[in-house]
Amino acid sequence: MIISMRPHATKQEVDYVCERIGEFGYKVHSIVGEERVVIGVVGVGDVTQCLESLEATPGVEKAMRISAPYKFVSKEFRQDRTRIRVGRAEIGGDSFITMAGPCSVESEKQIMETAEAVAEAGATILRGGAFKPRTSPYDFQGMEGAGLKLLAKAREATGLAIVTEVMSDSDVDLVAEYADILQIGARNMQNFALLKKLGRCGRPVMLKRGLSATIKELLMSAEYVVAHGNSDVMLCERGIRTFETATRNTCDISAVPVLNELTHLPVILDPSHAVGKRSLVPPIARAAVAVGADGMIVEVHPCPEKAVSDGAQSLTIEGFRKMMHELEGYIALWKESRQEELVLA
Ligand code: PEP
Ligand code: MN
Repeated sequence: MIISMRPHATKQEVDYVCERIGEFGYKVHSIVGEERVVIGVVGVGDVTQCLESLEATPGVEKAMRISAPYKFVSKEFRQDRTRIRVGRAEIGGDSFITMAGPCSVESEKQIMETAEAVAEAGATILRGGAFKPRTSPYDFQGMEGAGLKLLAKAREATGLAIVTEVMSDSDVDLVAEYADILQIGARNMQNFALLKKLGRCGRPVMLKRGLSATIKELLMSAEYVVAHGNSDVMLCERGIRTFETATRNTCDISAVPVLNELTHLPVILDPSHAVGKRSLVPPIARAAVAVGADGMIVEVHPCPEKAVSDGAQSLTIEGFRKMMHELEGYIALWKESRQEELVLA
């Protein structure tokens, strides 16, 4: 349930409400907002009695049960967008965010060259996998720790923040030492041990939609991370599995506005994995901007034909520059609509 305090309720009033929540056997999960404090409550007990009593407590405007099965990530819990600051980027804020880089970190030369080029073209976050989930056990599995070190070096040289995948709960602490955002890949969206561990990793999380996961399942997975203590979660649509074979996956573009209606978490679109083919990445990136995503994550490689993974969908550096240039007008419109949204709110 959530307890929405009156605007400018005093600290004493908030503290007293928290005390009463405890007396009913519930736990305060989180307190968000400054001017208007919203208290998230978890636990099992007599909800009706608790709600009635809290509603009559000084400083409380409304006490409500959240009807969605995902509680803390739902729009019912929080109407304004979650904003997540990483490096010089704010995800969910007033700028459309571009994360770009190779599928896998392959060498110092490859990651440095890509990082410098994508930073110059307007990206603020560098992607690159050090731990790679591969369909075949015989394919390149990633540089692991050495790859993380190279990413940190690239961050130092360019000022880009780093997003990189963590595949197992036992690697979370290691990856969190180097990464600014921990990426959870599609294949791990429902790895609940991993999701629980992310609750205490101290870093923002980008949760990718599973290959055959519904939007509700994606939100339930995000709820795991938030319920375990980490509210800095962003969601990523990366295409889903359908009968269609013309593209690697089917880009569920409508997932973006659907998620924007259901959750306050930022939404990122991954056109690269969604389509699997270089020539289709720019039009889907345009769609990401037009449909109101908070940002995109794109694969870029200095020499895609030599890439150890996902070369066919990786943009060349020149291709990325061109795409970023072409997106400028669309991003200007995106900004205008974000401004209007803020004014309306
Ligand atoms: C990736 O980002 O390189 C990746 C493996 O993505 P996904 O988990 O969406 O397949
Ligand atoms: Mn990839």
